[in-house]
Amino acid sequence: MASDAPTGNTSTVMPAVFVGHGSPMNALERNRYTSAWATLGRTLPQPRAILAVSAHWYINASAVTAMARPKTIHDFYGFPDELFAVQYPAPGSPELAAELAELVQPTWIGMDMDSWGLDHGTWSVLAHLYPDADVPVVQLSIDATKTAEQHVALGAALEPLRHDGVLIVASGNVVHNLRRIEWGRPDGAFDWNLEFDEAARAVLAERPAAIGELTRHRHYDLAAPTPDHLIPLYYLAGVAHAAGRSADAFVEGYAMGSLSMTSYVVRGD
Ligand code: ZN
Repeated sequence: MASDAPTGNTSTVMPAVFVGHGSPMNALERNRYTSAWATLGRTLPQPRAILAVSAHWYINASAVTAMARPKTIHDFYGFPDELFAVQYPAPGSPELAAELAELVQPTWIGMDMDSWGLDHGTWSVLAHLYPDADVPVVQLSIDATKTAEQHVALGAALEPLRHDGVLIVASGNVVHNLRRIEWGRPDGAFDWNLEFDEAARAVLAERPAAIGELTRHRHYDLAAPTPDHLIPLYYLAGVAHAAGRSADAFVEGYAMGSLSMTSYVVRGD
């Protein structure tokens, strides 16, 4: 009977996304980026769970949140109280955490029961995608010791989750240089930002598995002075490669000269 069918017995293949999250204030604001994220949330098939890969859980290991009730983490400072008051009370999914650990073997994944939760890379985006916080969420850390190729391979290993009702949401920024921010250019971009963003767009369209080439781009050090915000894109590239699909921009733009807000989707079926 249908009610006894395993959750994977479905013909729907979920899309996977990379969202350029920008300022934490995007959690509260309504702008053309957040409205694109909200539209996406309304048009996607309903996932059974979300796997989030956020720039803000950047540690020297691979781990997943494995608790039933992940806490909302306010991992920033200097923002209004209103932002510190945001809660995103989505349940966790210990089941998905265990499935993921099994799926990616022999890569070892730690089961985090109490150190992390949902950080703002995740909730500032999910607050628009799923404002009711009713879809269980698991976060996967970014292991800072892995190479770009290893992140792509791990992303590829996660691709089968799309066939089992899981929406993969990678959250970062293709270009993210806070030292070069120019507050007077809210929608502006330096030439090196445009060039690097375009290089990412080209590789994701044609041969996503080669995304690690960006680390040798002439503007890499300006675009990604720390790699934490770029690496989530490697996960989407890995998914695209495993799916035999391109990753396509669904909203594009720039912020304050030195951020790219470009977001990508690998379509489902
Ligand atoms: Zn961020």
